[in-house]
Amino acid sequence: MNYVSLGKTGLEVSRMCFGGLIIGPLQANLSVEEGAAVIVHALEMGVNFIDTAELYGTYPHIREAIRRSGRKPVIASKSYAYTAQMAMESLEKARKEMDLDIIDVFMLHEQESRLTLEGHREAKEYFLEAKEKGIIKAFGVSTHNIEVVEACSEMPEVDVIHPIINKAGIGIGDGTIDQMLHAVKAAYEKGKGIYSMKPLGGGNLLSSYDECMQYVLDIPYIHSTAVGMQSVEEVIMNVSIFNGEEVPREIRKALQEKQRRLHIDYWCEGCGKCLKRCGQGALSLSEGKAMVDKGKCVLCGYCGSVCPMFAIKIC
Ligand code: SF4
Ligand code: SF4
Repeated sequence: MNYVSLGKTGLEVSRMCFGGLIIGPLQANLSVEEGAAVIVHALEMGVNFIDTAELYGTYPHIREAIRRSGRKPVIASKSYAYTAQMAMESLEKARKEMDLDIIDVFMLHEQESRLTLEGHREAKEYFLEAKEKGIIKAFGVSTHNIEVVEACSEMPEVDVIHPIINKAGIGIGDGTIDQMLHAVKAAYEKGKGIYSMKPLGGGNLLSSYDECMQYVLDIPYIHSTAVGMQSVEEVIMNVSIFNGEEVPREIRKALQEKQRRLHIDYWCEGCGKCLKRCGQGALSLSEGKAMVDKGKCVLCGYCGSVCPMFAIKIC
């Protein structure tokens, strides 16, 4: 595993970051023990960087993995806090539930525009004070939007940007992958720490797995990439790819045979775009939300590419 300095934060991180969303209750819903076992395997294979969020419900899994492994990875977390009080509660929850005095990177979660950044000013000020006190080491912003990457480039107080990047541009809210890369490159050149998310477009690009990983690995202005993993086999496969090594045949076979499912997040707004895109007639609307008929779904991932809310995942 290769390690790099995350911008000007002083943090040394592995090129692959453990994406903590999938193991938690929003997706695979692994128990604390099961989730910790997957994380421990990643730590033992050289991953030293974990991405999580208050929303993901994975603080207990991370805490257990740190306890079991005796290793202290770099932790990045985030929350939707917009007031100072909410920011304080979020940061304290992270510290308490992961049993950590210091959270390495704390971010504003999923910022959508310059306006939303402005609306979170009070929380930002709280996190910057926390950085002054040494409770966090770096302040950051996670986003699916190019406008936010551009805005953060101009904000000296933003140390880390966590943008969505995949070869098809799935999930980018306001433009194309080329426009996103242009903004990310400019931010990188300003010294921001850049770790990207969703190299597989939320599982919708699983059919071109190696190509997707190589795509992000070949971008010279990304320090690290968060990859969601829910099993030891997935850890081995991803670490092998990031190390430029052959993926063991039995691991690849096991993952090809893995039962996967379409997951529709609770924030689906029922726009119906996915229904029109699905050639299998596998999607319908019920009480204003998209629903999948598992018997008809062939897991092609086409629906995920048209969802404006990035609410469709294959996991
Ligand atoms: S495209 Fe996305 S937001 Fe629209 S109905 Fe489908 S899942 Fe919901
Ligand atoms: S993954 Fe493919 S088959 Fe399944 S619901 Fe989406 S578009 Fe339809």
